Amino acid sequence: MKPNPALTAPLLAWFEENARILPWRSDPTAYRVWVSEIMLQQTRVEAVKPYYDAFMTALPTVKDLAEAPQEQVLKLWEGLGYYSRARNLQKAAQIIMTQYHGEIPGDFDVLKQLPGIGDYTAGAIASIAFDVPVAAVDGNVLRVMARLYDHHEPVDIPRTKQLFTHTLEAIYPREKPGQMTQAWMELGATVCVPGKQPPKCHICPLAHLCLARERNTWSLLPVKSPKKARRLEDRTVFLLFSKGKYAIQKRPERGLLAGLWEFPSITGHAHMEDILLFLTARSLSPLSIRPLPDAIHIFTHVEWNMKGYMIEVSDQSPPFHWVSTKEILESFAIPSAYKVYVNCMKVENKS
Ligand code: SF4
Repeated sequence: MKPNPALTAPLLAWFEENARILPWRSDPTAYRVWVSEIMLQQTRVEAVKPYYDAFMTALPTVKDLAEAPQEQVLKLWEGLGYYSRARNLQKAAQIIMTQYHGEIPGDFDVLKQLPGIGDYTAGAIASIAFDVPVAAVDGNVLRVMARLYDHHEPVDIPRTKQLFTHTLEAIYPREKPGQMTQAWMELGATVCVPGKQPPKCHICPLAHLCLARERNTWSLLPVKSPKKARRLEDRTVFLLFSKGKYAIQKRPERGLLAGLWEFPSITGHAHMEDILLFLTARSLSPLSIRPLPDAIHIFTHVEWNMKGYMIEVSDQSPPFHWVSTKEILESFAIPSAYKVYVNCMKVENKS
């Protein structure tokens, strides 16, 4: 794959004219770029915007993030999913405070040592905030490159990523490399778009250099490795309430949704005798049991098929944490997997 210097000028000129106004693009300090890039992993720009603004208002500096209670950071992340991103963000902020005097390092290799920062994020921070000519190759860039070069190897294998990174870095401008990084991402996000919709080749600044356009192969690209099937898991979720408070519990510190709060649940779709057994084992006596709507939540590797029950119990027994709806909504990060049941709790509270 030959680096093509002719790509640079039209791409940068196009970006200057067409860049979207995004909150993290004004004043692109390392902290602002970092937080935005972490939020944008796995999440769409439009969904990120309000979270980003709220996060920056609550925790405007690395120091604020490092010193915030973890519960506050997770609460600010609530709804974005993939909470390990938030946890790593805070861990990295703490390391920056203790080992780098509160200054985010600008070196690509040093950045990569921090929790949650891989090649892509390190490249984005180094190039956008520190003008280091390194590429940041995300899904958008992989797609555009695969099409430009009519490259039919899977884009999600390390070899392709490395090949594209080296090919791009060979043509990175010494001046304003951050513009180049953002221009590639922007072209992928707004012109050479993902999914089944056709790319907007008629407005693409690189159309005259694009092999997929010339050969009409865009719909075959990018090639991806076959995905493993998701594991299906049945669960039964309990909204246990007593005297105006609901039972919640903290998930284990490792694994799926680590350390987050949740409604008690058991694996499998429980029958009435299973529910009574669950309650008895926790010294809880039911006053009423009502079924709630079913819910599905899809994680990367597993899919939860949930049944739910609203259960009034006579006492607030341990091991659960018993809190009011208001407290749950304001102070506890409940994963969006439980959204349907959080809504049931809200409705119940109104009635
Ligand atoms: S010409 Fe079309 S397929 Fe090629 S990079 Fe531009 S938008 Fe993508």
